[in-house]
Amino acid sequence: MQDPLDALVVGGGPAGLTAALYLARFRRRVMVADAGQPRAAWIPASHNIPFFADGIPGPEILARQREHLSRYRVPVIGRIVALARQGRGFVATPEAGPPIRARHVLLATGAVDVEPDLPDLPDAVRRGLVRYCPVCDGFESRDRRIAVIGHGAQGAAEALFLARSYAEDVTLLTLGRPMEMDDAMRARLARHRVRVVERPVVGLDERDGRISALRLDGEELRFDILYSALGLRYRTQLAEALGADRDAKGALRVDEGMQTSVPCLYAAGDVVAGLDQIVVGMGHAAIAATRIHNACAPRTGEEG
Ligand SMILES: Cc1cc2nc3c(=O)[nH]c(=O)nc-3n(C[C@H](O)[C@H](O)[C@H](O)COP(=O)(O)OP(=O)(O)OC[C@H]3O[C@@H](n4cnc5c(N)ncnc54)[C@H](O)[C@@H]3O)c2cc1C
Repeated sequence: MQDPLDALVVGGGPAGLTAALYLARFRRRVMVADAGQPRAAWIPASHNIPFFADGIPGPEILARQREHLSRYRVPVIGRIVALARQGRGFVATPEAGPPIRARHVLLATGAVDVEPDLPDLPDAVRRGLVRYCPVCDGFESRDRRIAVIGHGAQGAAEALFLARSYAEDVTLLTLGRPMEMDDAMRARLARHRVRVVERPVVGLDERDGRISALRLDGEELRFDILYSALGLRYRTQLAEALGADRDAKGALRVDEGMQTSVPCLYAAGDVVAGLDQIVVGMGHAAIAATRIHNACAPRTGEEG
């Protein structure tokens, strides 16, 4: 069997591809495994990535990163279906091909947005009808009429963020569920004139490629932009099987070097608790890759 890799990076989104680039440039034996479903691919055009003042679509970010990495001849394979401890390192089982041994594993497996349950609305994000990230594109929503779908602390926080930062006309829609919040949050929403609507949506209208109205029982709400704030499902199955700690929302907990509670298992990007942003994931990746490099055994002929 071949010598173990210095590092296996699981996930080929912005975080994983950045980690692999750093490790390749540290001249480490690294491989990327990617199942090909990055959240980044949903971004129509991002305007908060430094160096791209005119905006850059998510698929182009990924294509540029892949092209950059290809110059270092880093192998890229498909999905990893299982990860187990082997000695002080790991053995990963890919969907196809032989098992892979690695001294370190970096999980950059990302997260999936919880889709709102709206009538007749397939592929809402792909078609740009629903937005997910006010930190990303709230600036483009300024002074518009905004609706936010959510029924818990996250929905209330996103509605408040938009009302405080960008717009005076913000409505929080719970889609028929009772709003879960304490009196203090209810008072803050009222102070920022966020309207809370707890009735179910029975229909919607689309016009010019956007949702222009939601029909409630006996009322129609008109607005310009709809955000969903129902949270994320973190792709943590591989880490869970190894017993890695997660926070209350299910994201992986890491130390200041991006190591999980499992020795030699690192994590970066959306799968880690924090601000789910590309530059943040890239920052995580740079830290994790450098820690892995410094933790690795010296190369043959190199002094320790
Ligand atoms: C509509 C929308 C707009 C957004 N706009 C912006 C923006 O303007 N600016 C910004 O900074 N952020 C934006 N974001 C957030 C951004 O997309 C994420 O923060 C970013 O994609 C996270 O990168 P990541 O590498 O952690 O995860 P991802 O991009 O999700 O990549 C994770 C990869 O890991 C793979 N994977 C998972 N499990 C396995 C496995 N077992 N084996 C192999 N591979 C696996 C997945 O298939 C995927 O390819 C937006 C998100 C959405 C949905």
